[in-house]
Amino acid sequence: MPEISDRLKKVSVSASVAMTQKARDLAAQGIDVVVLSTGEPDFPTPQHAIDAAYQAALNGDTRYPPTDGTPELRRAIRDKFKRDNQLDYDVSQILTAGGAKQIIFNAMMATINPGDEVVIPGPSWISYADIVRFAGGIPVPVNCQQAHEFIPQPEDIEAAITDKTKWVLLNFPGNPTGSVATKEELQAIGKVLLKYPDLWIMTDDIYEHLIYDGREFFTLAQAEPRLYDRTLTVNGVSKAYSMTGWRLGFCGGPKPLITAMSNVNTQNSGGVCTLTQAAAVAVLNGPQDLLRERAEIYCQRRDYVLERLNAIPGLHCHTPGGAFYLYINISEFIGRTCASGKKITSDADFVMALIEEQFVVTVQGAAYGMSPYFRISYATSTERLKTGCDRIEAFCQGFLS
Ligand code: PMP
Repeated sequence: MPEISDRLKKVSVSASVAMTQKARDLAAQGIDVVVLSTGEPDFPTPQHAIDAAYQAALNGDTRYPPTDGTPELRRAIRDKFKRDNQLDYDVSQILTAGGAKQIIFNAMMATINPGDEVVIPGPSWISYADIVRFAGGIPVPVNCQQAHEFIPQPEDIEAAITDKTKWVLLNFPGNPTGSVATKEELQAIGKVLLKYPDLWIMTDDIYEHLIYDGREFFTLAQAEPRLYDRTLTVNGVSKAYSMTGWRLGFCGGPKPLITAMSNVNTQNSGGVCTLTQAAAVAVLNGPQDLLRERAEIYCQRRDYVLERLNAIPGLHCHTPGGAFYLYINISEFIGRTCASGKKITSDADFVMALIEEQFVVTVQGAAYGMSPYFRISYATSTERLKTGCDRIEAFCQGFLS
């Protein structure tokens, strides 16, 4: 057989995707599965986005798009950055791609030379490290402690920086912890980054609008304007507007970086679907009330699940300020035996036993680089969350020793 590339061999299949597939397989057998592994909103895409896409199709807007994004969309993104983040980007500093994921991919492909290091505070989204490896770089994790609400400490970031560091990646509200950095915390991290003029910084703000308890969202280039020239501010419509399937991510950043990323874009996609671009213009320029309304519902769900799970002896979870995930510590279950007689030696064992005994699908903390934890997504109906919590409770109470 002809071989696949060495580059690809370094890349793993996302554990959350694998878990979601497991859930689909069980459901196909007629089993009532509670899926708490999927990182996507359960709300519908706003009607005005669908109308705009339909209208674009009727108008014949079905030809190759400008690869960087249509002028209307890039203007809408420019206005969004100004409105929400007080960031001034010229339209030429804005780029779109097939999801924030492809933006990050393009950024790494545009900048990483073999052996370059990328500092990634963790636990972190699964894809960062794989994208870095794919581009030929080396992910350098920085462990964030639960005692610090999983916010990276400036001195820990500094300790991870070497003369090979090309990027530092930041993500608030974060996946998988939901942690949100305050303006002061960002400024403290920024103070360290100012000392290292040869590295880029990426802030992944995809969960920007999923933020609770009256917290205010800040992004790095806003909190520390002196880093504006080296910061790539990444965002998208997936999580805020329930548009995961439309595949649109965007960023604002320094012109030379955007130009390089644009060159990658021309070779790996040729631009985002024209109908998606029309829909994105509609949501970015349209009424924004739905963001607060939906965040309110996520917050109520968070409170419900947090209270239920923290009441289960042995489970411990901090109160996340954003996103739609809980990252739950299970150290008290390690070394014990669950109802089916299986000894739990890792969070992967815990998650697998939870599927097998109670048909609740979650993701093991190991996938995000910190154990022993498991991640649940509460982006699902309260009714399903109640069933999920009942089953997790039964699972934990069923331990034999
Ligand atoms: N960043 C983070 C932290 C995420 O959790 C996700 C989706 N799970 C993405 C980026 C990707 O978003 P998109 O749908 O825009 O590719």
